[in-house]
Amino acid sequence: MNIQTDCAIIGGGFAGLSCALEAAEAGKKVDLFLKGQLVFDGASRLTAGGLAAVPFRAHPPKGADSLEKHIRDTLEAGQYLNDREVVRFCVERFYPEVIQWLVWQGVKFDLVREGVFHLHREGGHSNSRVYHVEDATGAHVMDILARQVKNHPNIRLHENHIAVDVVTKKKFLRLGGKDECIGAYVYDIIKDSVRAVSAGAVFIATGGLGKVFLYTSNPDTASGDGFAMAYRAGVPLANMEFIQFHPTVFFDEKADPSERRFLFTEALRGEGAYLKIRKNDREDFVLRYHKLGSKATRDVVTQAEDVEMRRLGLKHLWLDCTRMATHKLKNDFKNAYEFCLKKGIDLCREPVPVVYAVHYSNGGVITDLNGQTQLKNLYVMGETAYTGLHGATRLASNSAPECILFGRLAARHFSHQKAHGKRYQVPPWVTGRAKEFKDPATVSYYWDIIRKTMTLLCGIARTQGRLQAAKDVLEALQKNIKNDYWNYKVTRDFLEARNLVTVANIIIDSALSRKESRACHFREDFPRADKKYNRITLVEKPHS
Ligand SMILES: Cc1cc2nc3c(=O)[nH]c(=O)nc-3n(C[C@H](O)[C@H](O)[C@H](O)COP(=O)(O)OP(=O)(O)OC[C@H]3O[C@@H](n4cnc5c(N)ncnc54)[C@H](O)[C@@H]3O)c2cc1C
Repeated sequence: MNIQTDCAIIGGGFAGLSCALEAAEAGKKVDLFLKGQLVFDGASRLTAGGLAAVPFRAHPPKGADSLEKHIRDTLEAGQYLNDREVVRFCVERFYPEVIQWLVWQGVKFDLVREGVFHLHREGGHSNSRVYHVEDATGAHVMDILARQVKNHPNIRLHENHIAVDVVTKKKFLRLGGKDECIGAYVYDIIKDSVRAVSAGAVFIATGGLGKVFLYTSNPDTASGDGFAMAYRAGVPLANMEFIQFHPTVFFDEKADPSERRFLFTEALRGEGAYLKIRKNDREDFVLRYHKLGSKATRDVVTQAEDVEMRRLGLKHLWLDCTRMATHKLKNDFKNAYEFCLKKGIDLCREPVPVVYAVHYSNGGVITDLNGQTQLKNLYVMGETAYTGLHGATRLASNSAPECILFGRLAARHFSHQKAHGKRYQVPPWVTGRAKEFKDPATVSYYWDIIRKTMTLLCGIARTQGRLQAAKDVLEALQKNIKNDYWNYKVTRDFLEARNLVTVANIIIDSALSRKESRACHFREDFPRADKKYNRITLVEKPHS
């Protein structure tokens, strides 16, 4: 059945749910689509560390945390490729618009005592400023937001639905004038049919792209769908070469390499855990690379890991938490402690094997401070968006508050518009002569090629030669997949493969065009930062 709505929100993580609640509260009719089940899919539930924020204080005492310090840490992590105005805008709003809002929604952040929050300090932060609920913040926040979404009379929830594409006036209705987004096509996985959704505005909040690579901390939903949909709609993306790797995910030789890995929060290193090369070492080996050692930012730590692992032919390194107080480990990091116990490792007594994995996309679809893209009535929020906050690498725990802030701002912007203009009908989906896709092995072969190519040729250490080789392979594959799209009926795996290959090619093109090394983009052939590249990398679909 086709759908008419005010707001079609695609994605049910922090960004999608906060957007849905804000729009619904403003009286808008909201239809929320997500690939799997509310609460259980998406990265938000996995948010381990927490949310960074500093309340405004007109006269902070000497040594106390301040907005200025949070701004400085964010810029330093981003190697000054951030948009300074956006950094200030976000940091000033994180406390009132995110932390306080979450508290009003019922989130109970950990306290030291009545009225005083317990704050973690994470890698790259000069102060303790991360609000958390033990080390399972995402699960608590998602439970609370999801409960409200389910009970809100203005929100209709559509689980097991994958958005295929956003629909634009020019391409789909062949109408002239300024282009705009008029809705979306969404595939109902259970009913195996595509629904036409006509909407006042579409809000993309589809999260990250970790599945483009073989090893990732991201959930199965992170196939880069929102990036690819926006690209196909002609909306520009920025800084897609800046893929952040997380330095400490659990290493398990027996696990399927493509499985999502358990992630040891940054806060552990902030609180005294350190990385070492061999099990019995006592040295923080990252100190050889940076004065902050294991407390340095993620890109510094992962590059140090990559150099040592390749130099010594190691499959993994070790995270040592034994210098931390036992009660702290068991109470503040209960999730990590219990996970390790199940694996037969007592974190209080012995180190745990860890490796790096793809974790976060710093780049994304370009939006303004209302989450609006260049295409009228198309908003993008959360990890899929590029707001200018992160620069070349994100400061830990800045992304969860960014998702919630922009989810709310986008909904507010749409809801407060005086006139919404003419609404157009999205034409029904036409299957035409498309055949059943009888050959799932081909699709899984596409997945394999994309992920292996990206991991081996466009991973941590990049060169012109490797990137060009990756481009040759994946551009050819993209042509094949495009033909299949028109000839066969859609399936979930196929739609995701189509998005993966699109996003992979965007990342490669961006990486090729930045001939310098900066933060998490490391070019062996251009090992230094070059001020010629003190600008964002732009990728846009060529006009056909
Ligand atoms: C293990 C882990 C730990 C993290 N820890 C922290 C932390 O401590 N602090 C911090 O700030 N950040 C952390 N992050 C990053 C942060 O969690 C994410 O950036 C953030 O949760 C992204 O939220 P989102 O709403 O953009 O997307 P997600 O939460 O990933 O949600 C995406 C939603 O979109 C849906 N979706 C995707 N494609 C489609 C489609 N085509 N059609 C319909 N629905 C679709 C999914 O089903 C899902 O509901 C962590 C990330 C991971 C993976």
